[in-house]
Amino acid sequence: MSKPETSLMSRLVSLAKRRGFVYPASEIYGGLNGFWDFGPLGVLLKNNLRDRWWHDMVECPPLGPDGKPLSIVGLDSSIIQHPRTWEASGHVGGFADLMVDCRETQSRYRADHIQCIEVFYEKAGETKSLGLLSAMEGDEFEAALAKKAKRLIQKAGGGELMPVDLKAAVLFTNMAKDQQVLVIGPDAETAGTLTEPRMFNLMFSSHAGVFQDEDSKVYLRPETAQGIFLQYKNIIDTSRVKPPFGVAQVGKSFRNEVTPRNFIFRSREFEQMEMEFFCAPEDGMMWYEFWVAERMRWWESVGCRKENLYRHIIPEDELSHYSKGTSDIEYRWPFTTPNFGELEGVAYRTDYDLKQHSEFSKQTLDYIDQEGGRRYVPHVVEPASGLTRGVLLLLAEGYQYDESRASPEWLKIKPSLAPIKIGIFPLVNKDGMPEVAEKLYMDLRRTYTCQYDAKQSIGKRYARMDEAGTPFCITVDGDTLKDQTVTIRNRDTATQERVSLDKVRAYIAEKMVE
Ligand code: ATP
Repeated sequence: MSKPETSLMSRLVSLAKRRGFVYPASEIYGGLNGFWDFGPLGVLLKNNLRDRWWHDMVECPPLGPDGKPLSIVGLDSSIIQHPRTWEASGHVGGFADLMVDCRETQSRYRADHIQCIEVFYEKAGETKSLGLLSAMEGDEFEAALAKKAKRLIQKAGGGELMPVDLKAAVLFTNMAKDQQVLVIGPDAETAGTLTEPRMFNLMFSSHAGVFQDEDSKVYLRPETAQGIFLQYKNIIDTSRVKPPFGVAQVGKSFRNEVTPRNFIFRSREFEQMEMEFFCAPEDGMMWYEFWVAERMRWWESVGCRKENLYRHIIPEDELSHYSKGTSDIEYRWPFTTPNFGELEGVAYRTDYDLKQHSEFSKQTLDYIDQEGGRRYVPHVVEPASGLTRGVLLLLAEGYQYDESRASPEWLKIKPSLAPIKIGIFPLVNKDGMPEVAEKLYMDLRRTYTCQYDAKQSIGKRYARMDEAGTPFCITVDGDTLKDQTVTIRNRDTATQERVSLDKVRAYIAEKMVE
């Protein structure tokens, strides 16, 4: 099984396009950075993952520590909410600037306030480059940087200062990524500790109504979660839930990401699957641990290998001020390997959100616990995952390469999540075979997404289905007409079994639980 030259990521992107999983949005106009469209296979795969999450959260929620099913209800809230929502949540406010953070010094800089200098030096006959940033201005800036540059060059084993080039820090840090130039933060000693510049107001805005002024300004939601907090009271009053209970929601979110990248991993329009779990304050930590474990288990259940998942516990000094515990569930993405990157965040958000909305809306959002004889603002644990990122996980995890197969690239996706479950083929398009195959197709399509294909050689048809991740291919051949059996080919083993026509449904149903 030799590997092709190109990176896994570029092969995934091209397979995704070639087979109609994901296309660049607005491609005929040259595309739009950060936007993607899901094609015929992609939308099936995405819907299957979404439906699995919804089933496992809302329709058949996990069992709690007492062995009884948890109580979780669904919601579909508006993408556009009252603009005060985002003031209360902290999404609008004083954070409308492009910022960079320094991991070494924990300082945060306005990207347009720091200046940058690029210093070249020679080492072992090779010219190397250092990018130095500074928050100072004018003469002070140059003097300070020259001093620092000398020190660093000395440390790097000597060299010579060469001409410098002043650039905006934003451009520089972006460029540095591509050219692998080391960038050193204004107050840092080591290179590579600056994050990419990030806009602190990532929200897209629009106007609701006829007049386009400040009063009519609205935002596209940057997360689905806030809609849940806004309806928390209505849900308590109109359904039979009481803490501990959850409200789950799947839907589009929008963030004007500064640098959308890595295919659908970081886009400007994406889908989230979020659940807010409301509980008594003293139980918050217990539910936080419960949900981290449960969500890791769930990602494994959809086909993610255990060794590709990692729980990253956010250190206490990096937690949001309102959080008592946050863990990122990370996946070993093709572009982070051997390291991991965020797939889902599980945060214990305390009573912060409900208190904020209570204060901003002047509504009481307490829960009156009749049995316990007390009143409290519930605490919240939030497992927030990306549906779009989840689809990328299924593609990355499922991607296989094997030159001995008709289609060297194929996708190993769990049968229950595969976009097309069954390919149905007449071996040849004559001799009564199409009639039997069509009859089978007309029956199975009522239950499963099937594709009928009579074109080209059988090997090519298998290959097409393998690339689409279709777990089963049923072929009607000459023997079918004699003994009423068909072959069922298994995608993963590429082997075939003969199954009698009247047992096909049971055979497929049994395998589909996977
Ligand atoms: P990141 O650190 O990667 O920007 P985040 O911590 O801002 O993510 P959350 O606000 O916790 O993300 O959102 C929950 C989930 O939504 C993430 O774990 C991710 O799966 C998904 N998500 C967030 N931003 C994007 C995006 N721009 N594109 C695709 N998915 C996203």
